[in-house]
Amino acid sequence: MGDLTLANVTKSFGATQVIKGVNLAVNDGEFCVFVGPSGCGKSTLLRMIAGLEDVTSGDVRIDGERINDLAPAKREIAMVFQSYALYPHLTVRDNMGLALKQAGKPRAEIAAATEKAAEMLDLGPLMARRPSELSGGQRQRVAIGRAIVRTPKLFLFDEPLSNLDAALRVATRIEIARLHRELGATMIYVTHDQVEAMTLADKIVVLRAGRVEQVGRPMDIYNDPDNTFVAGFIGSPQ
Ligand code: ADP
Ligand code: MG
Repeated sequence: MGDLTLANVTKSFGATQVIKGVNLAVNDGEFCVFVGPSGCGKSTLLRMIAGLEDVTSGDVRIDGERINDLAPAKREIAMVFQSYALYPHLTVRDNMGLALKQAGKPRAEIAAATEKAAEMLDLGPLMARRPSELSGGQRQRVAIGRAIVRTPKLFLFDEPLSNLDAALRVATRIEIARLHRELGATMIYVTHDQVEAMTLADKIVVLRAGRVEQVGRPMDIYNDPDNTFVAGFIGSPQ
């Protein structure tokens, strides 16, 4: 299972409140897309869900269990960043297996999981290379591969395609949609791109200055945005 609930979640950095009481339910297996202007709090929300940032108040729950105080490594959550964050000194194979190694999994299990992920993402021929020997698109596929080896309940993607050129963006987007179908995992995906949001999402969450402005199915928001702000992100020309 991978139900995620945010209940009255806030986040302050010093005296500045940047997340101002977010309530949200993402159902098991759902593909949920966050959109909103730069600085509205998308990355901060993902980082709190992943445990990389403390929650100031409110609850983060997975399958009903409060996980606010659970260490990131104990959460069955994988995060894919726009900057790949691969280890330069490790091969693709070792980058992909690292989280399992750190979790103390046996070598054979790490090898099997890594091979399976490599096959799903067509990374086989690249396994012995280091990140400096890969293109941007290949690095991003490795970063996604590293996330799927852990078979998490929940995937978090923070603008994963924004460093790729247009053709690779489309190809990688199709790949992510396929992975979602095959893995059946819950995914939360941040993007600036309306086409990505419309094609990937079961549910779109429009954020504005630390609050949820509107939540709905893509076509419902597209056809019936609550206001011009929402229409600016997801909407037919008014
Ligand atoms: P987005 O991902 O939507 O562009 P962020 O979540 O990165 O937005 O940032 C939300 C707000 O929080 C911004 O005003 C940003 O400057 C602020 N912020 C993010 N991280 C920190 C931090 N570590 N310290 C102080 N302010 C931060
Ligand atoms: Mg961000």
